[in-house]
Amino acid sequence: MQLANHHAHSHFSDGRLTPEDYLKNAIDQHLLLYGFADHAPVPIDNFGAMTMKQLEGYLMEVDRLKERYGQQIQIYKSLEVDYIPGVINVHSPHIQAADLDYTVGAVHFVDRFADGRPWGFEASHENFQKGVEEIFEGDIRIAINRYYTMIREMITTHCPDVIAHLDRIKKLNKGDRYFSEDAEWYRQEVLETLVLIAGSGAVMEVNTKGFYKGEIEDTYPGKWVLQVARELNIPVHLSSDAHHPDDITKGFEYAGSLLKSISYRTTRIFLDGSWQEVELEPSAIYTS
Ligand SMILES: [Zn+2]
Ligand SMILES: [Zn+2]
Repeated sequence: MQLANHHAHSHFSDGRLTPEDYLKNAIDQHLLLYGFADHAPVPIDNFGAMTMKQLEGYLMEVDRLKERYGQQIQIYKSLEVDYIPGVINVHSPHIQAADLDYTVGAVHFVDRFADGRPWGFEASHENFQKGVEEIFEGDIRIAINRYYTMIREMITTHCPDVIAHLDRIKKLNKGDRYFSEDAEWYRQEVLETLVLIAGSGAVMEVNTKGFYKGEIEDTYPGKWVLQVARELNIPVHLSSDAHHPDDITKGFEYAGSLLKSISYRTTRIFLDGSWQEVELEPSAIYTS
């Protein structure tokens, strides 16, 4: 199992309990490294994310934990940064000023309703359908094209170190409720995006949250996407996107086997302060 997690949320954003609670579990599980990546403040009024004041407290708390537990486990400071054109990206002043060890970039919101509210496509079926109807002429293809176009824009203009949950747009698509991933137009969107990731140097995470939460049957992104990523030599790592300390490595056994089944032999983790390829076999990790 990969003994590292780079993506987790604490009570500083929408996770449960303190960063220290996550770290104690990480130490108990003998992880080599743990990275905190709470949702970064989004400069939109009443957005509901972490505030700038809370950001200060979060950064100080991770620094304190580095001091206190740094001998037992490598601890890294990150944020999951939304890409919202004209609003926030990994190069926004408050992100740059945070002095992060690495950045995780994600698209959770695509375009806006008439009242200016961003379309959060993960929230509920009702909100998903409302967005497709009101913003994208009722056409799921337009909605999905916009989603992947925004990810491509993020990669070409403000590329993070880690691309979070690439095909998260499928969160509510169980049973092909809204679209089929086999459709040529859908595959084309994903392929175009993968080609850009391959040329960017970013790591693509294999996010297990959908798997262990039962949202979907596999990972974000799923197997066929990872197969193409393998052909394109895109570096990947496992991340649990934990919102509770019990979830810090959930789904890693499954996702690790999935990667091995498609000939990934290593994952790229932030070891000793730089991105390094580490064997998926635990023995190799223990001896490194
Ligand atoms: Zn996310
Ligand atoms: Zn997350």
